[in-house]
Amino acid sequence: MTAPVKSQLLELYEFARKRIIQSMELRHCPHAGFYNPTDDQCLFCHQGMECVWMNHNDELVSVEEKSVEELRQQVLIAEDFIRSSLTPYHLSRRKCQCENCLWLRKAQEVLRGE
Ligand SMILES: [Zn+2]
Repeated sequence: MTAPVKSQLLELYEFARKRIIQSMELRHCPHAGFYNPTDDQCLFCHQGMECVWMNHNDELVSVEEKSVEELRQQVLIAEDFIRSSLTPYHLSRRKCQCENCLWLRKAQEVLRGE
């Protein structure tokens, strides 16, 4: 594995992180989006998956220490998330230029093209 792949993964990851933050309804979260395993509310919160994902990825320092394999896993989860947030309109257009579709194509390239 080469360094460029890792920096590409980090770039992909940063975009997904912003998307997930935007999609979370933080106004209703007593922990401002930080997963708290001791709060029962967090365990039953409908934002569980995204929130746990965020929590695992919150500090960029620790993200940079992650291995390429770990980052790949995180970007794979994010790929599912981004894809499920798109309407069929996007998915049916092969050359859609919106930032989500561009991200998805880049993610596929980086995840499967190495
Ligand atoms: Zn699109």
